[in-house]
Amino acid sequence: MDTSRDIVDIGVNLAHRSFQADRKQVIERAFATGVRTMVITGTSVTGSEAAARIAREYPGRLFSTAGVHPHDSRNCAESTVPELRRLALSREVVAIGECGLDFNRDFSPRPQQEKCFEAQVALAEDLRMPLFLHQRDAHQRFCEILASGRKQVPAVLHCFTGTREELKALLDMGLHIGITGWICDERRGTHLRELVKEIPLDRLMLETDAPFLVPRTMPTKPRDGRNEPAFLTYVLETVAACLSKPLAEVADATTRTARSFFRLADSRPG
Ligand SMILES: [Zn+2]
Repeated sequence: MDTSRDIVDIGVNLAHRSFQADRKQVIERAFATGVRTMVITGTSVTGSEAAARIAREYPGRLFSTAGVHPHDSRNCAESTVPELRRLALSREVVAIGECGLDFNRDFSPRPQQEKCFEAQVALAEDLRMPLFLHQRDAHQRFCEILASGRKQVPAVLHCFTGTREELKALLDMGLHIGITGWICDERRGTHLRELVKEIPLDRLMLETDAPFLVPRTMPTKPRDGRNEPAFLTYVLETVAACLSKPLAEVADATTRTARSFFRLADSRPG
């Protein structure tokens, strides 16, 4: 990998406890691999505060999102949106989310998931901030809520793993698409290798979703099964191969897309 390159990991859970002991080294390894910009995912109010704190230590290189994941929406209270709003004013917070619906695990009751999602879509609109979205087994309701609540802010569905029809619906709604190491998985991700060709490069972004989803194309997989942002290069390689395009072209295009989507150019110091 050309280390002068800047590739952007738009979804990395650096506030996750598995990074507690060696977070600094993980971040340095990512920088050394060319992953020079990262957006740390916030999944609860406390998690989003932690994400912002980490981002603050690397101004202009690390950013974060502020939101409540559908799994956590059962803890959504009266105070949640005001807390997210306050957090969203911080310089390093560049999107509202991760928010959305997860009817696969149903860790939170569906009516609560919907209410919490709707509130965050409204908050993003109010603040004119991009949305970082999660959806599993809830495509229909997810699209309905977005269609009624989202007016003008850009939105990315992170870790897209769905069908051709779902992808078409999302692109028709103007959404951006995040691709993770799921595409490197020969057991369950092969359909994505075809579908990724249908995503215009100005709507496509890359992410590790670390510590989850170790790319299965890695010749030597980490012993502890932990994914990290440095491994984004494996996602990039697979995507470039699927698109039959040079690595550098896909790296540059997805970086340009991410920088413009999250308006990162404006946030760079100096
Ligand atoms: Zn997610």
